[in-house]
Amino acid sequence: MNIQFCGAAKMVTGSNILLETKKYNILVDCGLFQGGRKIEAMNYEAFPYNPAEIDYLILTHAHIDHSGRIPKLVKEGFRGRILSTKATYDLCSIMLLDSAKIQEADVEWENRKRQRAGREPIEPLYTMEEAEFSLKFFEDYLYEQMIIVNEDIRLRFKDAGHVLGSAIVELWIKEDGETLKVVFSGDLGMPNRPIINDPQYIDDADYLIIESTYGDSIHEGLGESTGKLIDIIDRTVLRGGTVIIPSFAVGRTQELIYELNGYYEYNEDIEEHMKIPIYVDSPMAVEATEAFQLNSSSFDEDAKKLILKGDNPFTFPNLRYVKEQEESMALNKYKFPKVIISSSGMATGGRIRHHLKHNLWDERNSLVFVGYQAEGTLGRIILNGTKRVKILGEEILVKSEIYYLEGLSGHADQIMLLDWIRKIKSKPQKIFIVHGEEESARKLSEEIEREFNIETIIPDIYDRYVIEKQAIELSQGAKVEPAYLKRDIKAELENVYNQLESLDARRDRLMDPKLLEEEYDMLKNLLIDLQQSLMDLNIMVGR
Ligand SMILES: [Zn+2]
Repeated sequence: MNIQFCGAAKMVTGSNILLETKKYNILVDCGLFQGGRKIEAMNYEAFPYNPAEIDYLILTHAHIDHSGRIPKLVKEGFRGRILSTKATYDLCSIMLLDSAKIQEADVEWENRKRQRAGREPIEPLYTMEEAEFSLKFFEDYLYEQMIIVNEDIRLRFKDAGHVLGSAIVELWIKEDGETLKVVFSGDLGMPNRPIINDPQYIDDADYLIIESTYGDSIHEGLGESTGKLIDIIDRTVLRGGTVIIPSFAVGRTQELIYELNGYYEYNEDIEEHMKIPIYVDSPMAVEATEAFQLNSSSFDEDAKKLILKGDNPFTFPNLRYVKEQEESMALNKYKFPKVIISSSGMATGGRIRHHLKHNLWDERNSLVFVGYQAEGTLGRIILNGTKRVKILGEEILVKSEIYYLEGLSGHADQIMLLDWIRKIKSKPQKIFIVHGEEESARKLSEEIEREFNIETIIPDIYDRYVIEKQAIELSQGAKVEPAYLKRDIKAELENVYNQLESLDARRDRLMDPKLLEEEYDMLKNLLIDLQQSLMDLNIMVGR
């Protein structure tokens, strides 16, 4: 079969990989290109394949650089199945609509200009209606479920620990009687991140496609970064300034809130001057936070414990969510110390631009970056130390203090990426390195080849490779049993037995007549699912 890299090759955005077997065309991710004008123009180019001929789209996570061209794909003829985790679907239903809203607004503005100049109007990449329609093709699944896509393709999502719902994709594809296992790391997170679980590891792969955003660097610890953020707030507030944090509305913002919740709710001696309002100014962040709360079953143990204790980690007394535009504008009218967390995370658009315009020129203020700033973005330009920037048509001096807290990043650093490969028991025969600027990808490639002696490839955009099973010497008539079948299913069954046992211990509580009506409804649905699964299992084993 063939693999073609149609985005995020030697760059971090526009993730889009095509797998072509003799029978099927499968895409993994379909994200927006983000960055400067030249990169973003690529969103308007035709796909290098016919969307109508794609059978499946597997989505690693909801971030727009992985999902943002889905409505365009559907608009141009895709009618296949989109497979993702449930949380990814929930977040996409917010993010794709938001993306469409931005596309429509941008084009409206551009078209007014064009009309005045007597030029032809342009069309948005996709409309709200088209984004809404594309959601109909989603099917959502749980982590660890073995998804039988069809008789030749199986798929499993593992937790990538990058953002809620983010997944590593294990894909088994049968062709000509042989099964090839291709694994996509998706965006990998760091262990011990707030709210979400640590990235899971995989046992084996024939081919691995791995991200390399931070393939050349090593993060400081998360605790260190949170401590630094508190210090920055402290110093800025004491000189009467405001702290501006550009933050991705989905993921990073909720993690920041969670960390600040930890500081404000579990700290005996907070000094009076630190009790300033913290504004989360992004309608999408507000909606995403609601989606997070609906998916608390995917949280890590610490976050679950807080919730069980009765603490909602997304609220604390001085936290304010800002939804309305007027309220957002008003934030810059009054010059009292505060923290504003707003999107977009790389300052490429959204309300953050207004806050930068109104605050960047004042040396009392601080600007804190908490995530990756891609080449060509306003965030990267400021981070590189420019003294003047043009924001919303106005020239602004950059005089506030600029910080970059890398430990809060949602991406694995070089140590983690190498460790993740180290834990693969049966190593891949080849590794493709994507989702990183050339320098990062190259450094990671050197380290991989040095430590594991595995051939690596850093594809260029649109490069295509043949991938096939390495010839394995087999004695006549020997049958290779896919290793995952026995080992994984045994482990899963054991897991089920253990859960049943723990359920037994809770029998009294389940039989408690004081359960609420809604709890009964939920139990009933769960029981129906369970009965169905047990029946399927019975039928299958009975055959
Ligand atoms: Zn991501």
